[in-house]
Amino acid sequence: MKITAVHVETLELQMEKPFVIASSALAYSPCDLVRVETDEALVGYGEACPAYEFTGDTVWTVQDVIGEYLAPSVIGKDPFAVEAIVHCWERELWTVGNQAACAALEMALWDLQGKALGRPLCDLLGGRTRDGLVEVIALGWDEPEALADKTRRMLAEGVTVFKIKVGDLPERDEQRVAAVRQAAGPQARLTVDANQGWLNAKTAVRAIRLLEPYGIEFAEQPVRMDDLEAARFVRAHVDVPIALDESVRGPREALAVAKAGACDIFVVKLMKTGGILNALKVNAIAEAAGISVMVGNMGESSLGLAAHFHLNAALANATHGDADLPWRPGGYTDDIGSGLRAELREGVSTVLVPMSPGLGITLNDDAIARQRAARRW
Ligand SMILES: [Mg+2]
Repeated sequence: MKITAVHVETLELQMEKPFVIASSALAYSPCDLVRVETDEALVGYGEACPAYEFTGDTVWTVQDVIGEYLAPSVIGKDPFAVEAIVHCWERELWTVGNQAACAALEMALWDLQGKALGRPLCDLLGGRTRDGLVEVIALGWDEPEALADKTRRMLAEGVTVFKIKVGDLPERDEQRVAAVRQAAGPQARLTVDANQGWLNAKTAVRAIRLLEPYGIEFAEQPVRMDDLEAARFVRAHVDVPIALDESVRGPREALAVAKAGACDIFVVKLMKTGGILNALKVNAIAEAAGISVMVGNMGESSLGLAAHFHLNAALANATHGDADLPWRPGGYTDDIGSGLRAELREGVSTVLVPMSPGLGITLNDDAIARQRAARRW
């Protein structure tokens, strides 16, 4: 099988309401849809959901980098040659940054492999270690009463894990976490993510100390991404585990974080690692260092989420996972794909990993056409 063409189009996924965190406020979610055609009539799909504040790239840099550099490097190649292709991006094109572009094109190659073999993506990554993922809801910066209300509604749907965005003034963070804990009850699992928002390491320690009595499982990215000394200080001065997300991009950053002893959990996202191969390398470093991983996401549509869910299910070392569903309140009003499902298992909403070939997502051409974006400058 040979790759014959690569197409990229930019979309603006419409959200029910803006999602606000310490580092951004999004009223809609921009993404790039990558389509890879082959000489065997199979088409693979990938999605870039670039987060400028994480990696510096945008939907338009993704378009340019794929069009100018990455696509010409894969035309005529076999999508199964993914290791050689990624090596070419790193050591022949000397790609700097632009992980979202690499991740989206690489995702489409994996989708093609699965479709060619008639196997779901997770089977190409070692097979499933779990057949379902406990659903997680992310709660952005909002008034405590609104958060409590959403928590109660989601609890009624069987959601048992709530990821609360903090990194605001510590007292305001405490009000939000207290409201969610009160609404969720003692059994629900709560985690917090500061997205680098706290002023410095001492503020982060004070904030986490305020939040610990509410039974949080871990605190994520308490300090700036490049300040591993600060992360290590925080980790040494609080009781809960520390997860690092923005700090842990590809394998090299993961190794530096592991060497610094700066965290207990790596947050792995394809838009940071530049794809699945590098995500597996980050996980290998974590496992060797006694660090667990949480497979996150950047709020992709069903397509990109499916890639993360396959990876999550395939990693025995993934002790936590962001398993958000795009149709929940605050999510996408016009998802571009279908194939994700959740079911109640003993009252717990559980996301099922799609088991049809490749990513297992069927795209909706009308929804794609409705959300096509034009460059504004
Ligand atoms: Mg995070």
